[in-house]
Amino acid sequence: MPALLVDDLHKRYGSFHALRGVSFQVARGSIYGLIGPNGSGKTTTLSCLLNLRTPTSGRVELLGIPSSALHKSLGRVGAVFDAPTLAGNMTVKGNLNYARRLLGQRGGRSADEALESVGALELVGRRGGELSMGQARRVAIARALLGKPELLILDEPLAGLDTPGVREMLRLFKRLREEGLTIVLSSHRMHELEEVADGVAILMDGQLVAEGPLAELLGENRDGLHLRVRPASRARQVLQGIDAISTLEEGTLDGEWLELRAVTPAGNAPRIARALVEGGCELGTIVPQRRSLQSLFEGLLEAQGEQR
Ligand code: ADP
Repeated sequence: MPALLVDDLHKRYGSFHALRGVSFQVARGSIYGLIGPNGSGKTTTLSCLLNLRTPTSGRVELLGIPSSALHKSLGRVGAVFDAPTLAGNMTVKGNLNYARRLLGQRGGRSADEALESVGALELVGRRGGELSMGQARRVAIARALLGKPELLILDEPLAGLDTPGVREMLRLFKRLREEGLTIVLSSHRMHELEEVADGVAILMDGQLVAEGPLAELLGENRDGLHLRVRPASRARQVLQGIDAISTLEEGTLDGEWLELRAVTPAGNAPRIARALVEGGCELGTIVPQRRSLQSLFEGLLEAQGEQR
């Protein structure tokens, strides 16, 4: 059973169709990223998962439990939405103990244990209102961990954090995954998501435009060189004769110039440049180009723009 199953989810706000058939699954013990431009439906999706908003149609199951019955399994699913809301004049420990009482559960984590699991035990006596954004987010995650959840849902947990704050948050996510927790998060930070996510869903205009394990989406042949070289036909001939190039991708022509991507480790650039020049070609540019989540996203965004 997956940690999360979303099947053909639709959400309408009046006549506006905000989610139009979103489906994905998240394996247990993985980190899964929800990506998309502003207004693409990320928050709506996460809200529907937690039954904070009622889906118009579709099936959502968290740990095998339909989202509409989630209230019966309080504690098994933790969530942090928006900016962390802590009572400003209560200590961090007071905030967590208050949340524990609301949860009403026994056998979960104590306030100290939860803070320790996010590496924020030193904040225990500080007041909620005194915390930096990064500290407040960590405490909010600690609060979500009180019930020892198996699944954690985080809306934009990296927003507003500085670089050290982001690094720390990523380390925390990896540590929690090692402990077996499943994390579903939305984020704009492609670079960081690429570092931690096992799978991603890319939303545009309420629809998934790409979904699956990150390794599959980015594919093999990630390392390459972008070349601008002329004359085109001779350049192609020379490039085809270089063993270190595993694939020559379809290129484009700009007059005599050929622009294309060669799949090969970036370290082969000098060798390839030499072969081209010795082969009678003129080399305009040769630039390492690693396929990344960012480049995948930008390509999809461009394709989406062209469709409109
Ligand atoms: P994201 O989180 O990706 O920025 P949202 O899920 O917040 O996107 O919003 C998706 C779309 O639904 C947007 O066009 C937004 O304006 C619209 N929307 C969100 N909430 C409501 C609401 N309560 N009523 C009407 N439209 C809404």
